[in-house]
Amino acid sequence: MKLFGSKLKKIFLDIIFPIKCLSCRAEGDWLCLRCLSQLRLYNYNLCPICGLENKDGQVCGYCRHISNLDGLLVILENNKLSQKMIHLVKYNFIPDIFNHLKPRFVEYFGKNPLWRDFFVLTPVPLHPRRFLERGFNQSQLICDIISGIGGNKINDQLLKKIKYNRHQVGLGASKRHVNITGSFKTTVNLQADYNKPIVIVDDVYTTGSTLEECAKKLKEAGYKTVWGLVLIRS
Ligand SMILES: [Zn+2]
Ligand SMILES: [Zn+2]
Repeated sequence: MKLFGSKLKKIFLDIIFPIKCLSCRAEGDWLCLRCLSQLRLYNYNLCPICGLENKDGQVCGYCRHISNLDGLLVILENNKLSQKMIHLVKYNFIPDIFNHLKPRFVEYFGKNPLWRDFFVLTPVPLHPRRFLERGFNQSQLICDIISGIGGNKINDQLLKKIKYNRHQVGLGASKRHVNITGSFKTTVNLQADYNKPIVIVDDVYTTGSTLEECAKKLKEAGYKTVWGLVLIRS
């Protein structure tokens, strides 16, 4: 009866406030099939630090000494649609839009032989205050999608956000670095397997300061291999 009630409620809500495609405004879903095809996979593999092309997104030999990351996986092409999708999830609080990412991840991991199911996923954490404001962590949602496809373990306790920073959006590279420095800490885990590769998951890579700071903490804690994974690189 309750199920019927919630279904009925959804039908009424769809009539009064129809869901429209965030790109072409066609009624029915957050992304219609035609626009979904514009959500394209990112087709390059580059060293995230210097931008030199390579075969799998690893940090190149020249940049190893200036980065704590071992590599970066970028999933989607950075275009108006992918940007809008992320913006609506984070700032308009519509997490359901991310459901459309699943087929893209299936396609991405099918094409990327480097991806392994023993990689442990950890989301970039939100400060507890930010979490309460938003009601969800968008990076955790991305981890859930990946784990649902590849069966990867998620450990959301590896990192804690201890500083409530202002948003990074609109800040230049040096201000982003200052804003984020000292923002995270690792938790002590006596059962930790430091040989398991960790993949830190975030929505956007801009200057890389957030992922670098998280990777630094994980490397200091003893983890040997730390990669980043983002939806887009802006
Ligand atoms: Zn559309
Ligand atoms: Zn490089």
